[in-house]
Amino acid sequence: MRVTFATEPASLNRPNEDFIAATPDAVVLLDGAGTPAGSESGCSHGVAWYARTLGSTLIAALTQSAGTLTEILAEGIKATTSLHDFTCDVTHPGSPSATVAMLRRTGDHLGYLVLADSVLVLDLIGEDKPMVITDDREGQIGKRYRTAMDALDSGTPDHTAALRAYVEAMRAHRNRDGGFWVASSDPLAAEQALTGTLPADQIRAAALLSDGASRLVDRFHLATWRDILDILDQHGPGELICRVREAEHSDPHGERWPRGKSHDDATAAHCYRA
Ligand SMILES: [Zn+2]
Repeated sequence: MRVTFATEPASLNRPNEDFIAATPDAVVLLDGAGTPAGSESGCSHGVAWYARTLGSTLIAALTQSAGTLTEILAEGIKATTSLHDFTCDVTHPGSPSATVAMLRRTGDHLGYLVLADSVLVLDLIGEDKPMVITDDREGQIGKRYRTAMDALDSGTPDHTAALRAYVEAMRAHRNRDGGFWVASSDPLAAEQALTGTLPADQIRAAALLSDGASRLVDRFHLATWRDILDILDQHGPGELICRVREAEHSDPHGERWPRGKSHDDATAAHCYRA
């Protein structure tokens, strides 16, 4: 497959906590879950380190391992945890975490794995509507806690405090039954990922998006999933991120589209048949 991608941090003052890597047969996209200012995480390395370390472990494994995507993710979580469990408290409920989306071509088939709220969009030959794979358990639980944050203007100290309270409330639901699952220090989270395999010749193209890029559809409602595939096809992933930023700049305080972050790290990958 051909793969193109683009990624951009929310601001130039902070590291990009998204991670993207690809080979001709595999793509890995992670979105590190932020530790808001003033919040404890038990880890001295930080979220960007976690996403980059797990992400590079996964892309290496995808080129070598015959294991399933679930097995590769479980092993990756274990390996990454072993790199800091002697210096950091990896059992801390705020320990760095990440969403994971992976795509791998093996012979005539394309396998996928999606853990948490990154989005995989598959353009299937003969189908008008793209197939969209994302795990919205975090978003569903988040609805219980976001009312106070959404009522405040983004960028104000009150909003920052409300975001911290929201993230800390969500930690009680992280990686437990009835809650939501992300890659962190528990390899069992891999078993909670959505996975599947399709014949490669049924797929025209695929898009992998972090939620900072998918918000054009699922938060701003300014585009459909089909539009996303068309933008990627005609203009490439950089243009998709430009359109996200334009929308964000048109609503800097989150009055039209309440959101935890005015801008978020945004990543998009486009895979298509050569
Ligand atoms: Zn650490």
